[in-house]
Amino acid sequence: MEICPKCGLPEQACICERIGKSSQKIKVTTDKKRYGKIVTVVLGFDKSFDVKKLTKSLKNQLACGGTVKEGIIELQGDHHKKVRDILIKQGFDEDSIED
Ligand SMILES: [Zn+2]
Repeated sequence: MEICPKCGLPEQACICERIGKSSQKIKVTTDKKRYGKIVTVVLGFDKSFDVKKLTKSLKNQLACGGTVKEGIIELQGDHHKKVRDILIKQGFDEDSIED
């Protein structure tokens, strides 16, 4: 199976092209949960955007756990800067990512 070098997903599941077409305003932030656990929160995706696939890609690349709830991605740990880099690499416009 071919793996897309940009998003790290099998080519069938590749999300790069779809990301490129969207003009979403993404916000990357961190949040402190109970017991002092830090999570990285990524939000602001269009309803039509496949957030689940992106979460899978982020989890693969960051080797961390994470969940999606109502279009909001939560990744365990502080991956703030890396998430931004990955999103840009995947075709998100730098200006569309707020952090
Ligand atoms: Zn891809």
